Amino acid sequence: MRQKWRDRPHVKMEIFILLELLMSAVDSVNPVQSAESDRPTPPQLAIAPVPPLLGASLAELTEWVKQQQQPAYRGKQLYQWLYQQGGRSLADISVFPKQWRADLANVPVGRSTLHFRSEAPDGTVKFLLRLADGQIIETVGIPTDKRLTVCVSSQVGCPMACDFCATGKGGFTRNLERHEIVDQVLTVQEDFQRRVSNIVFMGMGEPLLNTDNVLASVRSLNEDVGIGQRSITLSTVGIPGHIRRLAQHQLQVTLAVSLHASNQTLREQLIPSAHRYPLTALLEECREYVQITGRRVTFEYILLGGLNDRPEHANELAEHLRGFQSHVNLIPYNPIQEVDYQRPDTRRIQSFVEALKAKHVAVSVRQSRGLAADAACGQLRASKVGAIA
Ligand code: SF4
Repeated sequence: MRQKWRDRPHVKMEIFILLELLMSAVDSVNPVQSAESDRPTPPQLAIAPVPPLLGASLAELTEWVKQQQQPAYRGKQLYQWLYQQGGRSLADISVFPKQWRADLANVPVGRSTLHFRSEAPDGTVKFLLRLADGQIIETVGIPTDKRLTVCVSSQVGCPMACDFCATGKGGFTRNLERHEIVDQVLTVQEDFQRRVSNIVFMGMGEPLLNTDNVLASVRSLNEDVGIGQRSITLSTVGIPGHIRRLAQHQLQVTLAVSLHASNQTLREQLIPSAHRYPLTALLEECREYVQITGRRVTFEYILLGGLNDRPEHANELAEHLRGFQSHVNLIPYNPIQEVDYQRPDTRRIQSFVEALKAKHVAVSVRQSRGLAADAACGQLRASKVGAIA
């Protein structure tokens, strides 16, 4: 029998130490602004050196070509080639001088290669993408008549170790760079041969532990790839101080906070990092986010049969959200092999919905997509590259 991580205190301690290190590293490069200031000036994004070229703005690319002793208009040509033609090798840019193309042949563009592709009967496609250093990440394309949504990863693995999550079971390797995030969207766009309309940062990783690269990729996806900020959702389990910090950027993206529990005890059971972030403090930070950005917050709540899906949980949740400009998104659990949580039946899901509606909480149930393609977080990577030991 596999021993659960929470029964192994040394594992819990390692996760705690890792989180402390990550948070102090992020804090050191992005100090918290005063919460008292009314409308603070948005912090500047760190400008990544070019190359890899993907994720760079027109201004950055123009500066880069000038450094290569080329005229500025080559920057525009490079920009169009990257984002409109999905170019992969600079040697292929036919409008560039032959000798320069040859010189640039080994300059990294920042595109991944396809490692594995899995398509469900409903059209959902899961991709395993191989990065330049050999790491494998997951990306999902979810088509409907009107939309093509991409679920992107922000890290290789994840340090948050949520108890119900396949990615959390596989541990953490590293943050993704901005080009590695933008590449996921272009890859799905190319595969489906249609424009991506929506992006959700709900793949592998905790986006707010990789804020600089995630925000740099959001800028590029918005300005370079052409996806509206309101069509981009950042999902977080909550890192103390980081939601407030995100609010300072005054973006129009949607913030989705993974609550998954209606009280602190249950939340700590499901999300180990929650022990350092009381539910009341998390909700207070979310209220500040609404005040600063004027955008409502979405609360994600994964429904686990017999654990957090009883009427008293719905009532407790409604009590927390009374008067809150928010929306609850219920996610019936997709079972994974490594843990024995259950998906609630339709009757229980509907009862939970009705209990929230009775308390005037805006609520919807997320439709399950791609179950046959291992659509639960981290499942495909786990089954194809053995991420779970
Ligand atoms: S649910 Fe999200 S935050 Fe939690 S371990 Fe999985 S990927 Fe990380």
